[in-house]
Amino acid sequence: MNLILLGPPGAGKGTQAKRLIDAYGIPQISTGDMLREAVKNQTQLGLEAKKYMDAGQLVPDEVVIGLVKERLAQPDCAKGFMLDGFPRTVAQAEELDKVLAEMGKAIDHVISIEVPNEELIGRLTGRRTCRNCGAGYHVIFDPPKEEGKCDKCGGELYQRDDDNEATVANRLKVYESQTKPLIDYYQAKGLLRPIDGVGSIDDIFARIKAVLG
Ligand code: AMP
Repeated sequence: MNLILLGPPGAGKGTQAKRLIDAYGIPQISTGDMLREAVKNQTQLGLEAKKYMDAGQLVPDEVVIGLVKERLAQPDCAKGFMLDGFPRTVAQAEELDKVLAEMGKAIDHVISIEVPNEELIGRLTGRRTCRNCGAGYHVIFDPPKEEGKCDKCGGELYQRDDDNEATVANRLKVYESQTKPLIDYYQAKGLLRPIDGVGSIDDIFARIKAVLG
């Protein structure tokens, strides 16, 4: 099964992706995670991407398309994959269609997680991640037992550089202008599966499973 997870920043794409990996055994391809890894490793690509990420802007299309193309060719994507945070522009979606066609593949479902803007800001600014194992928390909605410490591995929790209020506002604007048009793009192809993204993580996952079967 080949999936795209679509939705504004803070909609819960990454959280639901982790559940989907376990349920369907397909890898998550998160361009945000790949870019953050490149930033951490201070590669040339990472240093270039960081400027855009810190400003809440999109990294140039050709950079992310190159990353995704390489990743889709890995053997673990043979039985299916789940794209999280990609495509983010119509140009990326068109290029993805071409790449998949060359590989003899196609997207089966575009899961579009819908959350009102006013809820997104609180979700993003309260978000914390474990530096060690990558587990996600929220200071109000899903706090760790001990402040700043991961329940699962004891690792240090940190706030993403781009989860501050000013950058979040910019990311939401960028979503509206550049990514939202993808809803119409995939609707026209009959692939869009809208999911109400408000509620508990379990409830939202159940809604996604109901659509995927
Ligand atoms: P995310 O973790 O998906 O919220 O992505 C964090 C940041 O990485 C975004 O604000 C962008 O700067 C960059 N990014 C991630 N995915 C893409 C993409 N598909 N196209 C362009 N920039 C991206």
